[in-house]
Parts: sequence; structure tokens; C-alpha cells
Amino acid sequence: MLKWLAGIAGTIVLLALIGGWWLFVGFSQAPKAAPGVVDIDAWRAMVREAGGVRPVEIRVLEVGSDAAPMLAARAGAFGDRWLTSYNSVQIVFPESTLVIGGAVDRLTSEGMLQSQGVWRFDDAAYGALTGAMLEASQVLITHEHLDHVMAVARHPDPASLAPHLYLNAPQIAALPQFALGTLDPVLAGLTPRLDGSVQLVAPGVVIVPMPGHTPGSQLVFITLENGQEYLMVGDIVWSMTSIEQLTMRPVFTQFIVFDPNEDRDAIRTQIRALHDLMQAEPGLVVFPSHDRVWLDELAAKNLITWGFAD
Ligand SMILES: [Zn+2]
Ligand SMILES: [Zn+2]
Repeated sequence: MLKWLAGIAGTIVLLALIGGWWLFVGFSQAPKAAPGVVDIDAWRAMVREAGGVRPVEIRVLEVGSDAAPMLAARAGAFGDRWLTSYNSVQIVFPESTLVIGGAVDRLTSEGMLQSQGVWRFDDAAYGALTGAMLEASQVLITHEHLDHVMAVARHPDPASLAPHLYLNAPQIAALPQFALGTLDPVLAGLTPRLDGSVQLVAPGVVIVPMPGHTPGSQLVFITLENGQEYLMVGDIVWSMTSIEQLTMRPVFTQFIVFDPNEDRDAIRTQIRALHDLMQAEPGLVVFPSHDRVWLDELAAKNLITWGFAD
């Protein structure tokens, strides 16, 4: 009888271990190779052939920050902490600007709170963002998630914003779910200006569709006038340690955060491609949306500047 009970207990423990491994550790590793996912030579050729006056700096406006267990961002990262930034990026040209990212508004940010005492939201920064969007020649987003679209879907002056928006079809299709009430008709009736191909949208700025995290996810490849290159990767990873360690978000995060689910196979492959690209191109500055530590390092090296230009 005792032996029988011990057998059942052992089986339960074993199943729990397997389940825990599956939820928090397994099926999150990048494959050995990812040929053809990124083609930086093609992007560079587009930049070169288009010519024009390229941007002079990259600025990042943080509207909020928080902290969460790194385990949410990288499978197997037990015990580490993930310092989270919610922000929007301004690409500054000598005579104009381009804004990427609609960030998150206060209401949404409060709903996403993870760490009381660390969480903060900057109303003045959010106001600066909605204003800067109207000053920008173009406004784009990396992808159609709630923490990247609110200053678009909930902009105080959608009629003035609409002519500046350069969105792709999946991004436009997602907007109604983020509106307070019904989406303004001018936003609901937007026509896609990004067609799903690799496109140069301004001198030195190339949009590279990269579906996986969402159907409308895209990279932004930026070349400054001084030759410095950047690659914005949105939410393909939440922490740069995911690229360094070739490990994506755990299956657990899939269940509690995303609806609809991400394409995990696509992301695992994209992580391998980004990892190998960084190895081959050490001068390229890769940055995701939400890695506060990494963004601070870039700011310390004068590769980005915190806050938007006036
Ligand atoms: Zn995000
Ligand atoms: Zn996202």
C-alpha cells in the first residue's frame, strides 16, 4: 500500500516537473541557423540608392516604466528582474522628425502595473508625444499591441493625426479594439501606406516587415547622416538578453499575455537571425522597445538621447 502511494506521489511530482519545464523553460530556444530572415545588404542598398539627407539622431521619450520578473521575458530566467520601459522613438532629421510608436496612455499603463513602487507614468511626456506626432512628417508603429498604439488610437486630435500615419493593413485592422468607445471614423477609414514589402519611407529609414509577434510587426532600419546604423526590433524580444542567450519568452507568457498568440516558431527563428546579424555587424545598434537597462546603456554611449527634441 505504501509502495503504491509512493508511486502515485512520484508520478504527480514528475508530471508537475515536466509541466513546469514546458511552461517556463522549454520550447523557447532559437534554432541553429536562420538563413534569409534578415538581409542588411538589401536595406543598405535601398538607403544608398535613395540618397537624400539622412537623420542626425535618435531620441527616446519614456512615458512610463515598471519592473517584472525576467522569467516573463526570457524562458528559464529564474530570479532575474526585467526593468521595463514604455516609450516612443523620434528620428530627427535636420528639418523634420519621424515618430515611431504610440506608446501607452495612463489608463492602460495602470492596468498593466506589475511592481508597485517601481511603476511610474509621466503625463507630461505622454502629452509631449501626442504633440510631437502632429509635428512629425510621418508617424509609424512597430506593431499593433496595446502598449504601442494608444497615442494613435486614443489621440486627442485624430483628424489632424491621420494625414501623418504610415501604417500597414494589420496595424489598421487592430486599431478599433484600442479605442475608448468607438474608433474615430478618420482612423477607422485609414488606407495602408505600408504594403508589407521592405520599404524606404524617408532617407535612411527602411521598414522591414517581420510578422511573428503580431501579423503587423516590423523592424525599422535607420542610417544616420554620420553612418551609424540602428535596428529597432520592437517586441521580438523584450530583453536583449533574449538575443544574447538565444532564448525567447516562455510558453507561460504566451498563455497569460497574448491574444491572439504569437507565432513562436517565427520568433525563435528571428532571434537566431538577429543574434547572428549582431555578431556579423558589431557596429549595428539593435534595440527593442522595453529593455530599460539596454536603452540606458545606449544613452550612456550617446547612441540615443532620452526625451524628444522640442
Ligand atoms: Zn510591447
Ligand atoms: Zn508587443
